[in-house]
Amino acid sequence: MQQGMTAKWGRWKGAVCGFFLVLLCPQNPKAQDTLHSPLALPLQFSGNFGEIRTGHFHTGLDIRTEGREGVPVLAAQDGQIGRIKVSDRGYGRALYLNGGGLTTVYAHLSSFHPDIEAWLQEAQYEKESWLFDGPPDQVFRFAMGDTIGWSGNSGRSFGPHLHFEVRDQRNQWPINPLHWVMKGQGVTQDDVPPEFRGVWVMPLEGSEVEGEAKRFRWSPAYGESAKVAGPFRLGIEAFDRMDGEPFSHGPYGMDVWLDGEMVHSHRMDTLDFSTNGDVVAHVDLAAWQDRRSRVHRLHRLPGNRLDIYAQVNSMSPFEVAPGDTSILDVVVLDMAGNQTQVKMALLGDSLPKSGEALRPVALDRNRRHRVTGGRAAVELPPGSLYADAVVTVLDDSTGRFAVECEARVTRSDYTLSVPVPADFVGSGDALVLCALDEKDEVDGTWVSDESGGYMSTKLDRFGIFEVRSDTLPPVIGRPQAASGKLSMTVSDDLSGLKRWEGRCGDQWMRLAFEKGVLWHPLEDGVLEAGQEVKVWAVDASGNLGHRTFTWPVQ
Ligand SMILES: [Zn+2]
Repeated sequence: MQQGMTAKWGRWKGAVCGFFLVLLCPQNPKAQDTLHSPLALPLQFSGNFGEIRTGHFHTGLDIRTEGREGVPVLAAQDGQIGRIKVSDRGYGRALYLNGGGLTTVYAHLSSFHPDIEAWLQEAQYEKESWLFDGPPDQVFRFAMGDTIGWSGNSGRSFGPHLHFEVRDQRNQWPINPLHWVMKGQGVTQDDVPPEFRGVWVMPLEGSEVEGEAKRFRWSPAYGESAKVAGPFRLGIEAFDRMDGEPFSHGPYGMDVWLDGEMVHSHRMDTLDFSTNGDVVAHVDLAAWQDRRSRVHRLHRLPGNRLDIYAQVNSMSPFEVAPGDTSILDVVVLDMAGNQTQVKMALLGDSLPKSGEALRPVALDRNRRHRVTGGRAAVELPPGSLYADAVVTVLDDSTGRFAVECEARVTRSDYTLSVPVPADFVGSGDALVLCALDEKDEVDGTWVSDESGGYMSTKLDRFGIFEVRSDTLPPVIGRPQAASGKLSMTVSDDLSGLKRWEGRCGDQWMRLAFEKGVLWHPLEDGVLEAGQEVKVWAVDASGNLGHRTFTWPVQ
């Protein structure tokens, strides 16, 4: 990297022979047609663009770094740094490089180019914050192939890898990077067609599949057909593989026809961060949460804002008249042009006679609703549900409250109001609403205030909830100095670490918080022998923990 350097057009041509990057992305006609591989390693992916994750579609490529950190990360294009981000969550340490209409993003890094590190250190001391997110006020220009940083495992990453993203610079929408990266030196060839797992047939209330009133997963191993009686909906479970890689990826797209009429078509070309959470409306959420099955619904919930569909049928369910047969054709695609085709027959059957079932009333998603159960109540603003749904509130008088809904999540926040246990009322304790999983373990917390014996919390999921008091401050472990770092563990029982700070005497010291550890780089030179070091940690409920010791530590 050189500041104010001249562009080195053409340099990449010799340096990365075999790296034929093709294709102009259709969404982004102005973009350049070549990108440099962000690593000098053979490109192997542990995650691809558009694969289903919890709460979002994956917006880039996860590239393997041979299980280690510290692999040089190379500029994919000529450009200049438009944003630097340092966080204990998400992308961890990340660089955003702008050039040629694209922003390329390099996330979970262990460190940045020394010039960026030096600038950042100054900015952090000036702001007295290790967290950073914004454009640098100095120009850092790189040529394609220059080292801009080193790979790592920072932020929300569960093993060393590089998260690489390509965005349209104008609106920051991520684009499928494989529109550019078609081949690289040592890139795995992809001749493996996507793997089809099954067609999920989901009977509506009162309907049956294969003689039962529950969802049924058909696969070719089962036979050529399945019997359906009454209205039903469909989902497709499939994933993609690449040659020589053990990972299952998301498919690039799928096309589905029923009796020759296209009922669904989607492609993972580009995503929009503002609607990316609607993955919960695209997938069958129960199959994902309970079995990690990636089932793509063929119907579009009314509240689903994703712009990935070329064709999608509405919420109206399918039905096959008794004695009739419908043919379902499914084509699943990957980015290399491989495809898998499956055909199944849906045989219409008649429903056994049964008494008129008492059906609960679904709430109209376009209206405001208040649903109560015992002392608990929920308020659902218009549009907060993805589709009309039945919502039930239960209060079993044990201090636990259940808000039940088949949808499991909402599109936007609703309000849950529950009584505060008598012991806590007026105690001044910090209170948190806890979501409990099926093992009764805390699976989410929301800090909220008591008012008139009740606590109101804004939530975007349903489930089982309980009010607890959060009185324990974060616990800071014994400080240790090793490998150029002063580090100490920090843990919190409920609401989690929100803020932290360290000072040596009066001097603020940089304290990174990563993977449950607070650490300070000794090279900063702010620790003085004989001085008192103080470290504070505050949880989301405002409980303060601290530790004081004298430098150097024993
Ligand atoms: Zn990633």
